Amino acid sequence: MSTWLASDKAHCWHPFTQQSEWCAPDHRPLVLVRGNGVWLEDQDGKRYIDGNSSIWTNIHGHNHPHINAAIRAQLDEVAHTSFLGFANPRASELAARLCSLFPQATLERVFFSDDGSTAIETALKMAIQYRLQSGEPERTGFIAFDNAYHGDTMGAASLGGVSDFFSRFRKFGLPARFVPDFAALRALPDEVIRKTAAVVIEPLIQGVNEMRPWPSGLLRDLRAWCDETGVHLILDEVMTGFGRTGTMFACQRENVIPDFLCVAKGITGGYLPLAATFTTAQVYDAFLGGPDRAFYYGHSYTASQLGCAAALASLDVFDQENTLAMLPAKISLLTSLLGGLRASHACIHETRQCGMVAGIELRQADGTRFANSENVGARVCISARKHGLLTRPIRDTIVLMPPLCISPAELAQAVVAIRLAVVEEM
Ligand code: PMP
Repeated sequence: MSTWLASDKAHCWHPFTQQSEWCAPDHRPLVLVRGNGVWLEDQDGKRYIDGNSSIWTNIHGHNHPHINAAIRAQLDEVAHTSFLGFANPRASELAARLCSLFPQATLERVFFSDDGSTAIETALKMAIQYRLQSGEPERTGFIAFDNAYHGDTMGAASLGGVSDFFSRFRKFGLPARFVPDFAALRALPDEVIRKTAAVVIEPLIQGVNEMRPWPSGLLRDLRAWCDETGVHLILDEVMTGFGRTGTMFACQRENVIPDFLCVAKGITGGYLPLAATFTTAQVYDAFLGGPDRAFYYGHSYTASQLGCAAALASLDVFDQENTLAMLPAKISLLTSLLGGLRASHACIHETRQCGMVAGIELRQADGTRFANSENVGARVCISARKHGLLTRPIRDTIVLMPPLCISPAELAQAVVAIRLAVVEEM
């Protein structure tokens, strides 16, 4: 065993991981040492396509010369300075550039934080404080959707509907009402609506819920319902932001402007932790006035100069490589590859796709789910490594969400790897 693995097993604690299995003597996890484009390399020099974009973060590929150069150039100026009481050039440039991606006078303010959970946490606290300062102190509850995932900090976790992850913490969190769909939302009684600050949703597709797209038009209906009821709309674009669904942001697909929009993961091209919560002048203005109206929230690395430099460079690459214009052809190719995959094996129950995000659900040939203890999804993903693909399942749904820069040949190779792995494991 390498000294890296020995030290890992002796001292590291991994997320969402049963450490007794991780540390078992026969478990030899990969140590990833290097990356280039869509490819990652392990400690033994074996190469894999990064099939889930390093947990849904990477956009333009690893080791991209433009993003690397921007980070290096920033490093020669300064790595990090406090945003508490000081401005910095990269955050100013990035805020202006990000806000210019939305129609004028809509989402014109941005609050930086570190990751998806803190972007959501920011929106929740803003939504509550807004009501407290707008003469609606009773309106501080939230509505979320069943099986949603919005992150793991306590506030974000309160709105998480995936019970395996969140049920044990539910009673410690924010008040949240869960609904399965839009019809159930519409049916909520007035006394619930009157106590609701905001509804939060992953637009177009729920990620951790095994990659389940919403019905088309739902987002537009939700916006109209929010306008009718005075409930704020929080969009969690942590997964869907920065091109994943085919447009820069998923909300653009239904021409919806939310009251709060949260992004993270892909904002730096997947290079450094950074997140942003956007809001409108209407919300922002409620925080103006005396010191007690200020937004009392922030983190040490808020608006990190290195992170902002990487994010600016990632936006450059969107322009330089015409990333969004290249997507329709790749999305159609993915659709046809998934069609072939679906037909290739009786245990491929369903393939789901939203832009460049796909979920491939495995079930028994008769349509019933496999027992959890069979670990079918995990086994298929381990098997796919032999065929040059790295990804992670959600239960028995294999996630395929490669960096947007993936070539047609690499995309086809990734799907072949899944097909071969399914054949081997079923
Ligand atoms: N929201 C969504 C939709 C997510 O998919 C995730 C992470 N998978 C998060 C929030 C939390 O982001 P992070 O892990 O960066 O805190």
